Amino acid sequence: MEACMEQACTETEGATLRTEMEAYAKAHHVPILNEHGRRFYAEFVRKQQPHRILELGTAIGYSALLALSIAPADCTVETVELLPARYETAKKYLARSPLGRRVTQHLGDAGDMLDILRGQGKTYDFIFLDAAKGQYPDYFEKAAPMLEPGGVIVADNVLFRGYVLHPVMMPRRFETIVERLQRYLELVNTPPYKTELFPRGDGLALTRREE
Ligand code: SAM
Repeated sequence: MEACMEQACTETEGATLRTEMEAYAKAHHVPILNEHGRRFYAEFVRKQQPHRILELGTAIGYSALLALSIAPADCTVETVELLPARYETAKKYLARSPLGRRVTQHLGDAGDMLDILRGQGKTYDFIFLDAAKGQYPDYFEKAAPMLEPGGVIVADNVLFRGYVLHPVMMPRRFETIVERLQRYLELVNTPPYKTELFPRGDGLALTRREE
C-alpha cells in the first residue's frame, strides 16, 4: 500500500514537471511532442514495454521523461541533442525527476552518435527519431542494425505539413526535406520492416522489425 502511494506520488510529480516543461517549451519556442504526438507516443511505449530506448532529438528532455513514466522500471533512455543550450536545459529538468537517473544524455550530431553507439555494440528495442527531419533516411540506415527483432522505430513529423503525401502547391524550399521523408517511408516499408502511419498532427510513423 505504501509503495502504491509512493508510486502515485511520483506519477503526480512527474506530470507536474512535464506540465512545467510544456509551458517552458511554448514560451521558448522549443518544439516538443504536440498534444496528438504525446498521446500516440505514450500509447506506443505502453504497447511496446521497452527496456532500452534510443532517442534522437532530446530538446529539453520532455519525451524521454514521458517514455520513462510509462515504460517498465528497468527501462533506460539514451538521448542525443545537437544544441548545447538545450542539452543543458534538459540536464536541469532530468535532474529534478527520479526517472532522470535512467537517462544518458549525449551532446552532438545524431548521425555521428549513431556511428559511435553502433561501434560500441549497442542495441535497442525502441528507437525514436525526432532530430533533423531531412536526415531520417540516413538515421534509419544507421539505426536499423541496432534494432532488436520485435523492436520498433517511431518517427515524428514524417508527413511534414501534409506535403509528403500531397505535394501539391508545395513551396520549392521544402522539396529536399519532403523527398527525403518520402524516401524514409519507402525504406520503412521494405521487409523485414512494416510501418503504420498515424496522420494526426504532423504525422507519426511506427515501424516494426518483424524478424
Ligand atoms: N523529442 C523532443 C520532445 O518531444 O521532447 C523534441 C525534439 S525536437 C522536435 C528536435 C531536437 O533535435 C531539437 O532540440 C534540435 O536541436 C535537435 N536536433 C536537430 N538536428 C540535430 C542533429 N543533427 N543531431 C542531434 N540533434 C538535433
